[in-house]
This record gives sequence, C-alpha cells and structure tokens, in this order.
Amino acid sequence: MIRNKTDIPVSKQFDIDKDISNKLGDILLRKGIIDARTLAMAVLAKNNENLQSNGNGQPKRNLAQILVQDFKYDHDTIFREVANLYAFKTLEIESDEKENEKISSIKKLINSADAELKKLMISYKVIPVKFDDKIKDKLILAAIDPTLREIPKIAYSLNAKSYEVYYLPSIKYDQLIADSVLPANEYLKNFTEENYDYREVKEEGNIDEGLLEVEINKSALINLFEGALVEGVRRGASDLHIIPISSHETDLSFRIDGRLNLWHRQEGTLPEAMIAVVKDRSRGLDRFEREQGQDGFIQREIDGHVIRFRVSILPIAGSEIRNRFESVVIRILDDRKVITDLDELGLTGYAREAFQKAISKPQGMVIMTGPTGCGKSTTIIAALSNIMDPSLNVLTVEDPIEYVIKGARQIKLSHKMNFDSAIRSILRHDPDVVLVGEIRDRETADIAIKLANTGHLTFTTLHTNDAPSVVSRLYKMGIEPFLLAYAINVIVAQRLVRKLCQKCKRNINGLGAGYISRLKLNPDDWHNHDIYEPVGCEKCGYTGFNGRLAIHETLYFTKEISQLIFDAGEKIDEEGLRVAAKKDGMLSLRESGFEKVKMGLTSFEEILSNTTDN
Ligand SMILES: [Zn+2]
Repeated sequence: MIRNKTDIPVSKQFDIDKDISNKLGDILLRKGIIDARTLAMAVLAKNNENLQSNGNGQPKRNLAQILVQDFKYDHDTIFREVANLYAFKTLEIESDEKENEKISSIKKLINSADAELKKLMISYKVIPVKFDDKIKDKLILAAIDPTLREIPKIAYSLNAKSYEVYYLPSIKYDQLIADSVLPANEYLKNFTEENYDYREVKEEGNIDEGLLEVEINKSALINLFEGALVEGVRRGASDLHIIPISSHETDLSFRIDGRLNLWHRQEGTLPEAMIAVVKDRSRGLDRFEREQGQDGFIQREIDGHVIRFRVSILPIAGSEIRNRFESVVIRILDDRKVITDLDELGLTGYAREAFQKAISKPQGMVIMTGPTGCGKSTTIIAALSNIMDPSLNVLTVEDPIEYVIKGARQIKLSHKMNFDSAIRSILRHDPDVVLVGEIRDRETADIAIKLANTGHLTFTTLHTNDAPSVVSRLYKMGIEPFLLAYAINVIVAQRLVRKLCQKCKRNINGLGAGYISRLKLNPDDWHNHDIYEPVGCEKCGYTGFNGRLAIHETLYFTKEISQLIFDAGEKIDEEGLRVAAKKDGMLSLRESGFEKVKMGLTSFEEILSNTTDN
C-alpha cells in the first residue's frame, strides 16, 4: 500500500510523533526487535522530554529517534519499520543511466543551496533528489529519518511548493554521498569548519592538556561528575560506569539491581576531559597515565553519610586508532546497604536453619559459592554480624575490602603485604573467627582447611555453579577427601534475583497453571499461592522490579554427607551428594527460587532465566 505523503502540513508532524509511540512500539515489540522493558523506558524518556519542552520550543524527539540515539538500536532496523508503518517509499538505486541522471540532479540541487542549508542537509542526512515530473514545484527528498521535523524547512528553502519524502537506508546514504554525490576530493574540499560541525582529534601521544582544561571548565564536567556520585548513591546504584563512546561523547550509566541504565550522555566534550576529572578527584590515580589499569579511591559525605567509592580505570580501544580511551567503573560502597540481619537475606526454611547451625559451631568452614556479584560477601557479613561478640577475635583477609565490618579486624593489604602473605600470617595472630576472602589456589585452600580443623570458624568463598561442585573443586586442587569431609560445616550456593515491584505486580494465577504443568511441578504445592508477573509503573521505573533478593542451595554437612565424601575414592560423586542432601531438605537454586515465586516476591521468568535445572 502506498499512501501519498505529499503536503504534510508542519502541524501534522505532531500527529506523526504521537502516532509513532503507539503503533511503532507495538510492531517493534511484536517482531521481537525490542523488549517490553526497553519500550517502557523509551516511552518514559519521550514523555519526559515532551513535558520538559512544553512551551519553550525545544525540539521533541519521537520514539524511533530515541530508540536509535539513546538505546543504540540499529538505525535502519528501526526506520525500516517506520517507513513501512507510515508508507514512506524507499529511494531505489536504479540502472546506471537513470542513476547518473539522479546523481546529477542531486548535485545540482545541493549546489543551489547556501552554506547554511547545505550544512543542515548534511548534518541531518537529508538529500534533495529531484522535482517531480508531473506535479509542478513538488520536490522529492530522501532522508535516513523521514520523520525529521527539519524536512519541511529544507524543502521550502529549496523553493518547493510541496514535497514528498522517501526513506533512504543509512547504508545507501553513505554510498550515495561518499561515492557519487560527494566524491572523495570534493568531500575533502568541502570539509571545512564553517560547513561542518567537527573538531580535530589530536594525534596519538599528543593529548593537549591545556585543551582538556578548557573543556573541563566549559562543560562544568566537575559538577557533572560530583552530581553523578550523589545521584548514584541516592538511586541505590552499585556502580557508576563512565564510558567513552566516540571522540566527543561519553556515557554515564548506573548499575541498579544488577542492570546498567544510561543516566546521561555527555556530548560535545572529549572523553579524555571527563576521565581527567575522575582522575583528579580520586586518590591514588595518575592523570597522565593512560596506558595502564589504575585503582583509586574517593570518599564523600552525601546526605549526612560517609560514602566510599572504589575507582577502576582500564585503557580500551576506541573507534579510531588515535583514540586514547579509558573506561571507568566506580563501585559505590554505601555501608548503610550492608545487611546485618540474616532474616533480610531471604534465607528461609531448611536453608536458614542449616546455615544458622553451621555458623554457630566453634570451628569448621562456611563456604559461599557463586559467580561474581551474587552477593556472597553480603551474606558473609550478615553471618559475621550474627555471631560477632567482643570476646571473639574476628580477622579478615579480603582483597579488596568492600565494607567496614564493625567489631572485626580487617587486615589492610598493600604492596608490602599481599593476600598470600596475609593469609600465612593469620594463624599467628590468634584468631577465633577468620574470613579468607577467596580460595584461589592449593595454598589458600590448605590454610583455610588447616584453620577450620584447628578450632577456627572459617568463612570463605569460591566460584562454582552449585554447592556440590565445591567439593570436587577442592578435591581437584589437591585436598584429600578425608580432610574435606570433616573441615566443612556448610556450602551455600547463592544467586541474586530481582524482586517484583510490589506496587504494580500482576496476579497470573490462570497463566501460572501453564508454568506449573510445563515445569512438571506438583499442582498441590501451588494451589494455595498467588503467582505474579512484572508489569511496570512509575515507582519501579517501568521495569516491574524493585530491589533484589537471594536464593540459596544449602549443602549442610551431616554425618552421612561427610561419610560419602570420606568414602570417595578417585572421584567425588556430586550427584550422590545432591541426592543425599535433598533428603535432608536441601533445595536446588531453582527450587529455592520457586519458593520465592510462591511467596509472591519474584516471577517464574526471573527464576528460570537465572537458574539451571538440577
Ligand atoms: Zn512498579
């Protein structure tokens, strides 16, 4: 179906913008090009912009433009759908002869424009193609974004009385402009500062520090950076990411509930200037070092609380070889977020009981396992707080120290005292309870086992997928099964999953039955429970989730479990351990997650995407 787009009055542009948010969103969603969460966020961004621009004439962007510019969707993927939906014809590249005719027409039209109009057309990637053969003074234009509100202005400036705009895929625009309309030498000749908005990028190894200073002051980058620290703390973000995107764009994003969200795109300034601000305002960072990873530290008082920030900087490749880009990740260490109450961790039922029993023993190992960022240290800190007593000497060796643990002596590592030497010194410092941040190798494993077998309650972590595989991992490191069998009190595998927003979650009991049969769950266990799915509202930023909770697989070492490991010959039987532990009441991570679904705290999808079936 071809609809004639001739003569769109300028005022109608608002209808297109409005229309696009409804119909286009549906289509993109249905085709799986975007997900519901992105759509909700983009619509929110669009509505915010519209609210802010009311009355002051600021240009508003439509949904397609926001998806491409802010959410980094491929331009042509989105605008192909826009063109289909609004019946914009696509500019075809024709046979050679016709093509040459078209190109000379385009050149002629571009050349008839003054410098300002040329600049407008180039910067918005709009091409005047030709005047219509049949309708007098009707101009055919092509644009990579046919919904641009600058198009009428361009058409009328070229003396058209009416116009029709075609969609031109951006890849074809580049061909047309680079190869035909503006051949290389012409391109170079035209590429002057007056005609184009560009800034020269300095050659490698030759960063102009003076220029950076000018940029920092001009753009109030210090205010932006300090504002980001405050905002990150207030939003409860775990990290602030500062990432160079191009030679004049830097993204500032927050990780909230485990997901990165773009907060601000700094445009028109060199990323190097932004990074220089970070380095200047952190302790332990060298502003002029751009080739090595660096670790620094920031401390601020925000809303009456001292907040610590750990800064990590790594050199990264830019889009061009001459870029000297560095990526910055700032971990926000807000002690108020430390959970010291075991109940708040989401440990329930058998897991809670077994864990409490394990940490109440005077000796033995308590091992937390799971990938980075699964909240292992949070659980350990809560456990330590639970047993903390002034009569106990609690020593920790962590690299790096994340949170201050009240009542513990946290050994400070430095280039003179590293993790390994601290571990070796710990026994001579008369501890009762020890936290060995991580078992890295045979040596740390040996020391942790020795501590546990000589009257010390020993907390530590490993990186494995589940609890039974910790036993195999330690065995493979060279620890004898009989040592493992009696050194370990409990192994807990943990994951963090997102908590449903309590304000907007939707009851899906009818649909829930589908999950229950597909997952072969026992319907009798479920009929008394309400099952919910995420929706999205203003309170949760249209994500449907708010905060996170932990799920656990808790392998408690009963006599039977110890005996199984003691008897193991060459190979640890993980499956045998799992079967035995399940008889005691151990739940797998997925089963533990389902318990949280039953409690209405999270959704089936969230558990299925964060756990495996075992
Ligand atoms: Zn909500």
